[in-house]
Amino acid sequence: MRIAIAGGGLGGLTLARVLHRHGIDAVVYEREASRSARQQGGSLDLHPESGQQALADAGLAGRFRSAARPEGEEHRIVDPTGRTLVHHEPQPGSFSGRPEIDRGVLRDLLLDSLPDDTVVRDRRLVAATPRPEEGWDLTFQGGHRTTCDILVGADGARSVVRSLLTDVRLSYVATLVELHIEDVDRRHPDLAELVGPGNLWCVGVNQILAAQRLGDGSLRVGVSLRAENRPIDTYRSKRALLDIFGGWDPRLTALIEAGDSAPRPRLIEAMPIGTRWATRPGVTLIGDAAHLMPPVGEGANQAMLDGAELASRLAANPTDPESAIRAYEEGMFTRIHPIAEMSTRVQAMMLSPTAADDIVRFFTPQPAEPSTAG
Ligand SMILES: Cc1cc2nc3c(=O)[nH]c(=O)nc-3n(C[C@H](O)[C@H](O)[C@H](O)COP(=O)(O)OP(=O)(O)OC[C@H]3O[C@@H](n4cnc5c(N)ncnc54)[C@H](O)[C@@H]3O)c2cc1C
Repeated sequence: MRIAIAGGGLGGLTLARVLHRHGIDAVVYEREASRSARQQGGSLDLHPESGQQALADAGLAGRFRSAARPEGEEHRIVDPTGRTLVHHEPQPGSFSGRPEIDRGVLRDLLLDSLPDDTVVRDRRLVAATPRPEEGWDLTFQGGHRTTCDILVGADGARSVVRSLLTDVRLSYVATLVELHIEDVDRRHPDLAELVGPGNLWCVGVNQILAAQRLGDGSLRVGVSLRAENRPIDTYRSKRALLDIFGGWDPRLTALIEAGDSAPRPRLIEAMPIGTRWATRPGVTLIGDAAHLMPPVGEGANQAMLDGAELASRLAANPTDPESAIRAYEEGMFTRIHPIAEMSTRVQAMMLSPTAADDIVRFFTPQPAEPSTAG
């Protein structure tokens, strides 16, 4: 089996690593030219049943424990006046929940576990065409070409491989505007204290201002807004963002003012819930390519689990990859359906007019219904 993985994100790298542990080689084709080509984004909490399970399958649980930040699980939810609605503090020293890890640290942990020649960089896949017998001809930007027997699309939200299996369309579900604040303890100790070691969510009507502590001592600030018709360029200035949060406690909006550079807006998109396709020999999808969902804390976890599960299926059935892919896809569709439903519901709740009340209810254990039996 010559396996080509398009995309060296968390899903593609986990797949390559677990295959490698089973003695199966794969080549990862990644469009970015170097590890440092792009800032890798924020911190992720890895769930025991998905992201952490995948790392255990990858033989990297110990390294994860050394690199993770259990204290990063602390989170606080406040209203626009700064009043605390929810405050969760993990047990000090406990590793039992969902420890945080910076996405770049996690990506490097996976990359460093692979042989040097596994990831081929500067290879943006632009087309995959079936070969006359079986397998695929792959064409990359710049004219490079290669062939493979099995192609795995781990190429994220705007996957090129996805169109070989389904013609679903993405829908625009929210706008996210990001800012970054370096060296926060020294430069903005008040903001460091406000956010704490984990996450802060300031919840208003149809809008959220959030901030997250990263392991390198910086803060990542995110403004989430409902999908609307305004041009995205509207949000490229701090002034425009501050106007949106007019009337909020200035201690909260200081998170926008302190941003080190201009805000970076992006559209958040999702695939329809329940997307599935008929198995096609020699090709499949993992991660966002397979099931792009609103970002409420599941996508990376599920991408990694997809990678680990597909690798295990292929390793268990090396002479019949089509059956292995079918079994992986059936399991993945069943697992993802309720998670995509939940992610859509949570996203809508967080950007609703009653978000603060809904979120408090969501985080507060409800008393059991009185029994009507007997
Ligand atoms: C703001 C935000 C916050 C999030 N927070 C969380 C969180 O807290 N927890 C969580 O679990 N998930 C979170 N997610 C979701 C998570 O980021 C994704 O679900 C996850 O990264 C998917 O992994 P992936 O490997 O499928 O895709 P990606 O991480 O997108 O990786 C795809 C890789 O493929 C490469 N690539 C793309 N196209 C091509 C091509 N044509 N050829 C070659 N290479 C290509 C890209 O450069 C990239 O390296 C968040 C998402 C967003 C937007």
